[in-house]
Amino acid sequence: MNRLDGKVALISGAARGIGAETARLMAKAGAKLVLGDLLDERGREIAQAIGATARYVHLDVTREADWQAAATLAVGVFGGLDILVNNAGIFTGRSIEEATLEDWNRLVAINMTGVFLGTKLALPALRERGKASPHGSAIVNLASIAGLVGSQLDPLYSMTKGGVTLFTKSAALEFGRKGYRVRVNSIHPGVIETDMGAQTFVARARAHLGSNDVAAAKEISRSTHPIGRLGTPEDIAKGIVFLASDDAGFMTGAGLVVDGGLTAQ
Ligand code: NAP
Repeated sequence: MNRLDGKVALISGAARGIGAETARLMAKAGAKLVLGDLLDERGREIAQAIGATARYVHLDVTREADWQAAATLAVGVFGGLDILVNNAGIFTGRSIEEATLEDWNRLVAINMTGVFLGTKLALPALRERGKASPHGSAIVNLASIAGLVGSQLDPLYSMTKGGVTLFTKSAALEFGRKGYRVRVNSIHPGVIETDMGAQTFVARARAHLGSNDVAAAKEISRSTHPIGRLGTPEDIAKGIVFLASDDAGFMTGAGLVVDGGLTAQ
């Protein structure tokens, strides 16, 4: 189950957090990997720890030329591309009144333009490999629960993730209509213990407690998850591996919610 033997995956934002854990789990599942990030040293370390089946490439998701180079590397070194994980993303933790136009433009560039460019520039290679694969190639987009319900902490982040949620469905429809064998799905994490998760505790302390008490804010955050704990990068990486695998062969245009029950209430 959930095996990726013989498949090649490209992951953005793979130097840390959910992206790095996804790289590790995909390697264990048998995939060959191209890892992209801005953090070159950390990204190279992750790729080296995985071994000869992983390569690192500098990938700023807002730059078309970087995406082209990453897709070309996957095809040149590993012979093709079966899986794209649009993982890179940022969070500002600013209210509508605090946020500047620069904050918004940066969020849009990384969280939305990055997903559009990745999809567009990886598509030719994904289509090619999809022709011969029993269940086609796969794109997995990192949305968020903030792409399903509103966010009290970062309304602008929520707007970008809502965009990713519907772009996922629209891309699935377009590729289906055109007969491309490329499935497109999104994943919607609850609060996950990564550097971004830590940023949300700082924002929550400020917004809800009017203080810097990050430990108290983290406890509030934990208590909103009915399952009784915060998520780990592995919780999300397992969902990404599933969506990328042939076990999800009848899924496209869907959103997998992995949030400890947060949006069930
Ligand atoms: P993270 O720990 O902050 O890691 C994100 C990675 O993306 C970092 O290595 C970051 O590098 C990289 N990145 C940022 N801008 C980039 C760019 N322009 N090009 C390429 N890489 C870039 O975040 P995470 O928690 O693993 O989140 C991964 C994804 O899950 C994001 O899309 C996020 O919105 C989503 N998500 C996270 C949570 C959560 O609670 N953690 C919840 C819901 C959804 P730098 O350090 O250089 O910025």
